[in-house]
Amino acid sequence: MPIYEYKCNECNEDFEKLVSSSTTEVSCPKCNSKNITKKFSLFGMSGVEKPVTSTSTSGCSSCSSSSCKSCH
Ligand SMILES: [Zn+2]
Repeated sequence: MPIYEYKCNECNEDFEKLVSSSTTEVSCPKCNSKNITKKFSLFGMSGVEKPVTSTSTSGCSSCSSSSCKSCH
């Protein structure tokens, strides 16, 4: 079963869903809206560029950089 990536047009939630067929109705898990956009299948897309989200955030939320040197 392919995994598709969707984006909700109502609340901008990004989510992935396993769909058994292209006719499967998919709705947003957050707001339950069906106003969504299918982005692409993850299968065969190993080189997809994704924004790097670092899990170790050393800076505070008011810092644009990864260190707090500018605001502390
Ligand atoms: Zn939504």
